[in-house]
Amino acid sequence: MSKYKGKKVLVVGFGVSGVSVAKYMAKQGAKVTVTDTKQKSELTESVNACADLKIEYELGKHNDASFRSAELVVMSPGVPLNIKPLDGTREMNIPITNEIDLAAAALKEPLIAVTGTNGKTTTTTLIGEMFKADNRPSYVGGNIGKPLLDYLTEGTRADVVVAELSSFQLELTQKVVPAVAVITNVEPDHLDRYPSYEAYIAAKKRLLQACDKNSYVVLNYDNPVTQAFGHESVGRLMWITKKNPMTIGGEFAENFNGCYYVAAEKKIYAKIFGKEEVYDVSKIRVYGEHNKENFMAAICAARAMGVNPQAIQKTIDEFRGIPHRLEFVRKKDGVFFFNDSKATNPQSQLRAIASFPANPIILIAGGKDKNFDFTPLAEVVRSRCKLLILMGEAKEKMNRAIGDFAETYLVGTFEEAVLLAFQKSRNGDIILLSPGCSSFDMFRNYEERGDYFKKLVHQL
Ligand code: ADP
Repeated sequence: MSKYKGKKVLVVGFGVSGVSVAKYMAKQGAKVTVTDTKQKSELTESVNACADLKIEYELGKHNDASFRSAELVVMSPGVPLNIKPLDGTREMNIPITNEIDLAAAALKEPLIAVTGTNGKTTTTTLIGEMFKADNRPSYVGGNIGKPLLDYLTEGTRADVVVAELSSFQLELTQKVVPAVAVITNVEPDHLDRYPSYEAYIAAKKRLLQACDKNSYVVLNYDNPVTQAFGHESVGRLMWITKKNPMTIGGEFAENFNGCYYVAAEKKIYAKIFGKEEVYDVSKIRVYGEHNKENFMAAICAARAMGVNPQAIQKTIDEFRGIPHRLEFVRKKDGVFFFNDSKATNPQSQLRAIASFPANPIILIAGGKDKNFDFTPLAEVVRSRCKLLILMGEAKEKMNRAIGDFAETYLVGTFEEAVLLAFQKSRNGDIILLSPGCSSFDMFRNYEERGDYFKKLVHQL
């Protein structure tokens, strides 16, 4: 019998994750109450998805009494952990958890967990593709769209579960013990939700702390934060780096496990606990040097779980990227358009600009500010961008930080931005949408923003 049978479970937040929890708990026989500050009319999709289930709703506002009388409170990643009604939950010592932790506690399959500031979705997808190429069934979910609990509710079978985890999803996890943990990099992000950068780093570090000595831990040596994480890991360390370990020397070179990339040879060298392998990346079809890091991280994770090297090479050769991540849109009159709508922090903008070392770049940027410092972009803007087109809530702030380093225009609409970019472009230019901000000032999400950009570009 399920341990949740007859239990009073309060699900806080009724988006994709909340729906998944409600379904799972209802199936386990729990007494489910769902609460969200949004009105029912704003949540029709979620309500419809749960139409067949016996659920109590408290929509439009939270009811303090429910937060004090539940036996388990399950938080959605979109709801901050400092909302007032949770004080009552804490006072009553009621356990607070989330969907990821519930899933991890019930999973029997090995879990490959991927977090980091940038590259999570790409790396998670690549790992899933490598398993597929090796004819091994995997379930790919988490922050990437499909909740992990759906895997348990649906009852499908997979060899491994590959999960992309955001810092918000990691905040409450206690039961997660990954077979493989990957932290791609840690850079300032989400500073609107965290009190400090340190607090954000601490949330990412929870994945490291969840590992035991059998876990494989894949970390980026070239990123200062994740490099330092290496000292705190109890698991089996695997590094990714664009430096040759021999040039770093010492113990690092002697005990090296993981992957390193040699740009001059376009090869990734892997040392996987005694096995040496070489992967050819000369034929990859995705833009951006940062993707070499994502490939390396995915290789480490896949090899740790025994995926065949031929299947990995096949994935490297055939992977065509993911929409909204440096996605090539079209070439018109000798001008190349790229959609990088998923670049929602300055670090990913830097990577996007660095991906086109030879062509003049017209950068379209701006959106909702997440409290970023954009001054680190100044140098690449000066050396690589011929034009800056800024829009959205953050445009003035961005202009003050980087507007002096290229010809700059502040525009009011997306249409203006695309048109102006095209008018100002010449043969061989790259027009790059890489906002460095979230999209919520003008769009529902980054997908809608990227799709709208592509539509405008195709209309030119
Ligand atoms: P996430 O899921 O962490 O947001 P994505 O794979 O969706 O990561 O990529 C998000 C953005 O970051 C895109 O603009 C992409 O071009 C850029 N990016 C992808 N991988 C990396 C990386 N390893 N380092 C820095 N930027 C990256």
